[in-house]
Amino acid sequence: MSFDLEKIRGLFPVLHQEVHGRPLVYFDNAATTQKPQAVLDALRNYYEHDNSNIHRGAHTLADRATRHYEATREKVKDFINSRESAEVIFTKGTTESINLVAQTFGRKFIGKDDEIIISTMEHHSNIVPWQMLCEEKGAKLRVIPIQENGEIIFEEFEKLLNPKTKLVSIVHASNALGTINPVKKIIQAAHEIGAKVLLDGAQSTSHLEIDVQELDCDFLAFSAHKLYGPTGLGVLYGKREILEEMPPFLGGGEMIKEVSFEKTTYNEIPFKFEAGTPNIADVIAFGQALDFIQSLGKKQIKAHEDELLSYANQLTKDIKGFIPVGTAADKVSVLSFNIQGMHPFDVGQMLDARGIAVRTGHHCTQPLMHRFGIEGTVRASFAVYNTKSEIENMAEGIAKIARIKN
Ligand code: PLP
Repeated sequence: MSFDLEKIRGLFPVLHQEVHGRPLVYFDNAATTQKPQAVLDALRNYYEHDNSNIHRGAHTLADRATRHYEATREKVKDFINSRESAEVIFTKGTTESINLVAQTFGRKFIGKDDEIIISTMEHHSNIVPWQMLCEEKGAKLRVIPIQENGEIIFEEFEKLLNPKTKLVSIVHASNALGTINPVKKIIQAAHEIGAKVLLDGAQSTSHLEIDVQELDCDFLAFSAHKLYGPTGLGVLYGKREILEEMPPFLGGGEMIKEVSFEKTTYNEIPFKFEAGTPNIADVIAFGQALDFIQSLGKKQIKAHEDELLSYANQLTKDIKGFIPVGTAADKVSVLSFNIQGMHPFDVGQMLDARGIAVRTGHHCTQPLMHRFGIEGTVRASFAVYNTKSEIENMAEGIAKIARIKN
């Protein structure tokens, strides 16, 4: 598809509404993106025509549902360029994907006095599962510090690496700042000392081309709902040889080969990690979201979003009282800021009165907020369907709000 913004906007029904008498401007895309009509149609179509449990039915509907479900797994494989679709596990989201690794890989391979490295800018879902594991195992959590502009201090990361490091789990692109981390370099350095690397791709997968073979990451976690797909669905990619060594996560149907009261043998990957009836409808609909992204290509998407971000920077930088938070050179389309003398929540409410949806608060990154000595920020995050005139509208709103106290 060529990059026709009006046409793209036309695919998203939710965008065409008014909020407080103003046209909706949806800038909360880092929290969740809106869904194109094709995703909504796929959900409806599944329940109207194909609804059936998958993998074990002898009948036509079960066969159709299974084929559509597995077709999305193939699409995810292509989307991240994994070697095979068996390396793609469906989960509830990034959070569950990370917890899966912590509870299986972590429990088996991380022991007393071993170390796990994360960074200051992690989402709580890439902090708490490791803290829980460390508490259980007597392992240690190490944290890469960041600079004032929101970039990690790479030399400090290198100093943290040592033979006890078993895992580096790091966000690819920060949800709170937009910083894109130098993950290729991080992975190489971690592999040199024999540590595995998990990438939290919740924010990067919608903006950046992802090639897990080229990156050579051991795990990649992401969520469908931040990729124009349904909520309650995510992916864990893992290298086959590691997934095969890992014990199962949840026990139940689907994940077994044979069960007796004496002994149970487990299914092959990916099914070993997909116990119970999965989120069939949402997986199928996610296939449409991936088709939408692929039809435009990440290059076009990123170029458009970069333009929006630089326009937003340009229009806000001279506003008196405007304080940007996170000014890394390499960023995804996230503008995090504060207004001198004002609480982020109040700023968010005033923008909402203009029909502009932004997120306010700590963005599930409290330690990062502590690093900057702030309670939270206002975050505007842009997606493929946003426009320059929406940015102008927001900048005008911010300027008005800032004048109240500055
Ligand atoms: N990691 C990052 C960087 C995120 O932005 C988010 C969600 O905002 C998550 C993890 C958690 O994703 P989910 O809530 O979809 O599991």
